[in-house]
Amino acid sequence: MIARTLFVVPLFVVTLALAGAPPALAAAVGDVPRPADRDYPGVIDMSLDVTDVARHVYRTVETIPTPGPGPMTLSLPKWIPGEHSPSGQIALMAGFKVTADGRPLAWRRDPVEMTAFHIDVPAGVKAVTVSLEQQSAQPGGPVRIAVTPHLMVVKWTAMTLYPAGYRVSRIPIRASVKIPPGWTLATALDRDGGAVDGVTRFAATDVETLMDSPVYVGEHERSFDLDANPASPVRLHVFADNPDDLAASPEILEKHRELIRQADRLFGPSRRFAHYDFLLSLNEQIGYLGAEHLSSSENGYYGPGYFTDWAGLFSGHDILAHEYVHSWNGKHKRPADLSTQDYTEPMGNSLLWVYEGLSEYWGDTLATRTGLYTGSQMRERLALIAANAQATPGRAWRSLADTTNAYIMNSAGDLGATSWVRGLDYYEEGQLVWLDVDTLIREQSQGRRSLDDFARAFFGRPEPRGVSTYAEDDVVAALNQVQPYDWKGFLHARLDAVGGAAPLDGLARGGWTLSFDDQPSDYYTAYETAQGVTILTYSVGLQLSADGTVKETLWNGPGFQAGVISGDQILAVDGAPYAPDRFKAAIRAAARPGAPPIALVVKADGQIRNLSLDYHGGPRYPHLTRKAGTPDRLDQILAPRGAAAQ
Ligand SMILES: [Zn+2]
Repeated sequence: MIARTLFVVPLFVVTLALAGAPPALAAAVGDVPRPADRDYPGVIDMSLDVTDVARHVYRTVETIPTPGPGPMTLSLPKWIPGEHSPSGQIALMAGFKVTADGRPLAWRRDPVEMTAFHIDVPAGVKAVTVSLEQQSAQPGGPVRIAVTPHLMVVKWTAMTLYPAGYRVSRIPIRASVKIPPGWTLATALDRDGGAVDGVTRFAATDVETLMDSPVYVGEHERSFDLDANPASPVRLHVFADNPDDLAASPEILEKHRELIRQADRLFGPSRRFAHYDFLLSLNEQIGYLGAEHLSSSENGYYGPGYFTDWAGLFSGHDILAHEYVHSWNGKHKRPADLSTQDYTEPMGNSLLWVYEGLSEYWGDTLATRTGLYTGSQMRERLALIAANAQATPGRAWRSLADTTNAYIMNSAGDLGATSWVRGLDYYEEGQLVWLDVDTLIREQSQGRRSLDDFARAFFGRPEPRGVSTYAEDDVVAALNQVQPYDWKGFLHARLDAVGGAAPLDGLARGGWTLSFDDQPSDYYTAYETAQGVTILTYSVGLQLSADGTVKETLWNGPGFQAGVISGDQILAVDGAPYAPDRFKAAIRAAARPGAPPIALVVKADGQIRNLSLDYHGGPRYPHLTRKAGTPDRLDQILAPRGAAAQ
């Protein structure tokens, strides 16, 4: 997953107990059977209808064979892999009905697990039929938009009930989806024949694989071969509102093909999938997102310009690289506490600094090795990441390791007031820690070894396909194999520190220093445009949308000191109506000797207030500056690897 995803479900229930015995209809608290390691006796038939685009409604009908008469529990996925949280979409589920041989069966929701439903199967009933409707979110609501007039994202996890009490990898299921006339679909699922009357049937699989294989459905799709090698082909499926948005030039496509080659050179030849399908939406409503799967990924770009404004709108070009890395780091090789056997068992996020921090590091590294970013864009991006880490006052009370709990605490992950609370820092600050590790290996080994060797040894070694779990000690041991060092002490000094400085040693060892001047970099400006914000964090400590609404106030920064908080709206600056350029001009003017504070008129809590912003430091924007006389290890890290290196 990538950090800028919003996925909120208001219901949140902590598991208190997971009993082993089958539940009675009058179930005890949290009486959901635990997943046993045995085959489910029968194949679920799952039919999904997503043709009601205008009303944003998905309809499910499932036939679930029963193991026998008596109590049975049906669950909708709650803990969603890749979302690292109990974000299952239960709040908008409606119309839930269970029947047996045409007669309705009573159901009762578990009092603790809101996603679990208890039924009592009568004698002689071989299968129950379940139907439900799931409404996709409306604009402005808390749940991510998944249905638009021209394309939709279909997540089986929001639509599929499975029988509790079995490992989801051992429950067989056969699924089909009915899509609107004239639309097409893309997914990693294998098809069982061609579409008939808009219905595509998929080959029988297991519940775990189905949940890990979302479907993109749309009116305008183009698919591109990124690697046609029949042993493990890789394809890119792009969906947009307008066919013109799908005009990918050969040069841009070649960068995506190079991503597949460079990933092979990083991880070695053992790909973890039989085939891989990138699913990419170019739609503003769906927006920027990334969600990893073993054989596919969901990717959303900010808007339609991914191909058509490649040079202008380049922020976020690492999205496909980040998600592709996850096929190795996260989906195949998985932290033991994230490797659960069904979707009711709570997940543990203690190693997300590997799962996400390292994916962020290698996503950016691969994006630069392939030309998705230029070296200069990547350095400007790193400058922004480093500046953000440095400007995180929450470090004074909360460790980086503790931020890995953010998604469990709140499925939104990011509450806005992030500088003091801290947000999903294990992504980008985690990335800085891995840069630290990589440069240290290079320094200690006199350039003979690097984190690429760790990639090959830890993630790329020959193993059967499927999940292979690890613990922190395995990471430390593998690092020691590459380069002997006190890696446990090194990592924990950075992960557990409270009150220390941001981890910028890797930049310095890479040959670069974080610096500030009065001009934003091209990356900085592209990032502001993509996010629709003006970022003045490093001067007045404010981020604002175009109408002056404050998106974020840096804790204890100049804006905070003046009394401005997130959600306020700045109406006027020095007597003139708010405009981003006017605010920037006022910041420059206030830096002149003897200049007065900046006068703000702010709308806050329904009142108009006059505030004085006493800041005289001028504009400040982050950059990386080369440290003269030191090796440019960052350049070495970001350089493409040649075929010979494989
Ligand atoms: Zn991720």
